[in-house]
Amino acid sequence: MVKEIVYNGKRYWVCEICGLVYLDRETASECEEFCKNNPGSCSITTTSKAIGRIILREGREYIKFYRGSRSSHLYDLYSCGCC
Ligand SMILES: [Zn+2]
Repeated sequence: MVKEIVYNGKRYWVCEICGLVYLDRETASECEEFCKNNPGSCSITTTSKAIGRIILREGREYIKFYRGSRSSHLYDLYSCGCC
């Protein structure tokens, strides 16, 4: 199942297998389908639509948004969609 998250009042969808973040559920589902069937590899056509990635740091999850190399070290905490 893809995971719905809310960050800064915006809704995002996450592939729970590879942790890539998408703007719509359809693309996240596509990614998860691909990840399920092709462990360890990613579909370029799908992952190119990702806007970020979930990163685990000391038991907490963060979104790392793809915003160019200058901000590649920025990690943003997000809250889940249910609370
Ligand atoms: Zn995936």
